[in-house]
Amino acid sequence: MAKLHFIYGTVGSGKSLQLLSTLHNYKQKGLQPLVAKPAIDCRFGENMVASRSGLKYEANLQLQPEQDTIPVEYLEDKCAVLIDECQFVTPALVDHLRHLSLNRDVPVLCYGLKTDFQTKLFPASQRLIEVADTIQEIKNLCRHCERKATMNIRIANGTPCLDGPIVQIGADELYQGVCFEHYHAMTAPLKDRNR
Ligand SMILES: [Zn+2]
Repeated sequence: MAKLHFIYGTVGSGKSLQLLSTLHNYKQKGLQPLVAKPAIDCRFGENMVASRSGLKYEANLQLQPEQDTIPVEYLEDKCAVLIDECQFVTPALVDHLRHLSLNRDVPVLCYGLKTDFQTKLFPASQRLIEVADTIQEIKNLCRHCERKATMNIRIANGTPCLDGPIVQIGADELYQGVCFEHYHAMTAPLKDRNR
């Protein structure tokens, strides 16, 4: 049985860069993984897996919002499955990936966020924590100090924001990875206002 891996980090921690690095390693060995990403994430153009470092690669498959399986034809001759922004897939797709690793003996590596800007687990990330063989954190510094970033904060029009849609894709100016102390300091005034 191959393994299901959940590799998570905050916004800007280099998750896509790590995916592209893994892809490069496979290709150097003459192997071709399937690269899939949710269609919802169109920051860098329809099909591109792109890192803030500037590296990018065209995904083989765009996952639609309600998609619960990967059609078998996409898996032919593929040595592994790499999922970018995996927090946006369905929990049912995570279960499907879990069985792919078992039944097809293909390793599955899922890269994404663990929690949203309201500190809650994304449903797919929760399912990955429940069923993955390995869970790896990509460490990243807080945007505002030298502690580790553990939270994702949403910045709207230059100020921290606790409401709005959970699924809103943005670049650096919309989300930041921050430590809990900075998350608390930046969001506490908003909570007081709502009380
Ligand atoms: Zn901080």
